[in-house]
Parts: sequence; C-alpha cells; structure tokens
Amino acid sequence: MSILIRGARLRRLDGLYDVLIEDGKIAEVSTSIKRGADETIDAGGRLLTPSFSDMHFHLDSALTLGDPRYNESGTLIEGIEIWAEKKRGITVEDVKNRAIRAVKMMVSYGTTRLRTHADITEPRLATLKGLLEVKKEMKPLIDIQVTAFPQDGILTEPGNAELLEKAVEMGADNVGIIPHYELTREDGVKSISVAFDIAQKYGRDVDGHVDETDDEQSRFLEVVAAEAIRRGYEGRVTAGHATAMHSYNDAYAYKLYRILRRAGVTVIANPLINIHLQGRFDTYPKRRGMTRIKELLKHGVNVALGHDCIRDPWYPLGRGDMVQALFMAVHVGHLMGYQELRDSFDLITVNAARALRIESEYGVERGKRADLVLLDARDELEALALQRPPLLVIKEGRIIVRRSNAEAEIVVDGKKERLEFV
Ligand SMILES: [Zn+2]
Repeated sequence: MSILIRGARLRRLDGLYDVLIEDGKIAEVSTSIKRGADETIDAGGRLLTPSFSDMHFHLDSALTLGDPRYNESGTLIEGIEIWAEKKRGITVEDVKNRAIRAVKMMVSYGTTRLRTHADITEPRLATLKGLLEVKKEMKPLIDIQVTAFPQDGILTEPGNAELLEKAVEMGADNVGIIPHYELTREDGVKSISVAFDIAQKYGRDVDGHVDETDDEQSRFLEVVAAEAIRRGYEGRVTAGHATAMHSYNDAYAYKLYRILRRAGVTVIANPLINIHLQGRFDTYPKRRGMTRIKELLKHGVNVALGHDCIRDPWYPLGRGDMVQALFMAVHVGHLMGYQELRDSFDLITVNAARALRIESEYGVERGKRADLVLLDARDELEALALQRPPLLVIKEGRIIVRRSNAEAEIVVDGKKERLEFV
C-alpha cells in the first residue's frame, strides 16, 4: 500500500511538499513527486506533522467520572481518595473497556504514542493486567508504554515495593515514583533509590510523578536528577508534573536547570490538570502551578507534554486532544510570541521523541516511519486557534483515521455562506 500526499505544508519549511509513503515508511519528500501511488490525497496547503505523543496519562482511571462519586473540592487529594474507592473492586474488563474507548479518542486526535501509568498499589494488579492487554490489542493504532505507578507510595505500606517489582516482572515498561506523596522527606528520597534499583535490575527507564504540589519545599527533582547522573541513567528519566518548580526561588530553579540538563531528565508538564489541581490552597493571588516550560527550554532541558487524565476523579473534562493540552500550556506558560507558538508543537512531537529515544525513526523525512497527522490548518497558529480534529492520522503507513473537514454554513437573510476559518 502506497500513499501520496500532495501539496502539504511541513513544519519549519516554506512552500508546499509532496510526501510519498511506501511500506510503512516515508519514501520521498520533495516539492514535486512524479511517481503515482495506490492512493493520492490532496492536502490543499494544510500542515502535515509527525503524529503526536502523550507522555503522561492515566488510562486505568480514564472515563470513570462520577464513579463512585464526583470530586467536589477539585483537589488532587480528593481525587486520590475517590480513586482508592473505585479501585477496590476494579476488574480487568472494566479497565480494558474504558482504556480502549479513551485510546480511540486520543488516536482520532492524532496521538499515536502514549505513555500510560498503571496504578500498581492495587494489590491484585488488575489495572496493570488490563493495560498490558490494551497495549497489545491497540498496537495497530497506537504504541503504548506502561509505567508501573505506585499511586499510594512505595514506602507508605509494606508490600508496595514488592508490587512495583512484580509489575515490572509482569511486563511494565517503566518504573514509577511519587516521592512527594511518601510519609516523610527521607522516605521520599529512599523511594527514589528503591525505584532506580528496580529500573537498573530490569533495564527499564524511570518515569515519575515528581513534586506535584505547590509546596516550594518539595525538592525531589534534584534527587531524581542526581540518581540519574550517578547511575549512568542520563536520558532515561522523565519527571511528570514538577509543579513545585513554579514556586521555587529563581536561584534554586537556576541550579536545578543545570543538573536537569546534565542528567538529561525530560520534564513532562500536564497543563490541563496542573492549572486545575494546583493553586487550590491559595487565596489571592493564586499560583498557576505549572512547571517552568519556557525557562527549562531556554536552559537546554527537554520538555514534553501529557494530557494526564480524561474525565476521571482528577479532571472532569477532556477529549484526548494534545493540541488542546498544548493550547493550555502556551497560555499558562506565556509561550504566545509568534515564534514561540510556531515552536510550541515541539512539545507534543519531537521533544517527546527525544525522551522516548526514537528520534532516528521520527519525523517527516525520507526513511522515517510514516506516523503522520494531516491537520485542518495551514500552520501551528491556525491549528491552535481552531483546534480542529485532524483530517488524517497515519500509523506505520496505514490511514487509521479519516475525516472530512468541518466546514460550516451560515445563513444570513436566507442566503447561505460558507464560513472560512482557515
Ligand atoms: Zn499523573
């Protein structure tokens, strides 16, 4: 099966390009391809980008909103309490059904790579089992990595560290941490060491929840970076949320940028959830509670984004659209300069590929894997302004989502007009 996409815009290039896809790979990119293909698609000057990555998500809790109850306080802690009630009787089937629905929504919005957490402090490990099956079954649509996530802490209960290791033995791709949720600062530090021990023993990456709090005293990110350096884990660690960084003093933040860069730690911001859950103990002025994306990037630290949650105890909204997550990020992070908006798509594309160490196969270039999204917009600004679902999503050279564009008709005094947003 070959596909020829004609007249597409590509990021950071002027003019229009044709892209030929053969055998799952990009065979040619040029201003005019003479060869034919099994299917030819006219892009009409729209933007063709590599497909999106969601670097931090909770598939096991997705679409449980209101079950068993709604989060009325809007706090992270009430969310964890509701989830603790829900997961008591959770079944593999329940996890799978919801996760598959959520995955399909995400794919339809252009995400074909996903890192999901599976809460392994549920002792029957039903969430992990369910998500490992979803990973396998959804492979034609999306590449999933499952992180063994100790939601209730590694050292808070006897047996959690063993569950974490067991989850990795069962096939979890990455080892999780949540040091700010451990009982003491010392336990937090120790929990990081326990997780790195397991990661090293099984050759896995570390993918943590780190400093997801407004507490400026929460400083586990430096410990995570130091462990990465000492254990030769540079480039193999992601730190999700890191919202406390919003509240650090600038001198300390500056020190942190340096060691994060040296450790090759990727920081994953989750703008939709961070703006909703953080700042909840403030009166006014209220903090934004998102990590410092702009400054981290400026200091050479890799940053990518996660959607984190869809309609669950922590976040009541969402449709699995990484452009919507990016829309929130550019607002909250003051990334609204013209060039900043153009560059912002790196956060959901190439920066994630760097964190996943798949740069050699990622991009709209000859020889790379044909994982692509044709957006209903001419450039990044239009994509963010309109937030239209993509017209095409392609994974490994196969079209997995197809849409006609969402044109609207408006009737003025009985006369029909076609609305042009682009
Ligand atoms: Zn999370």
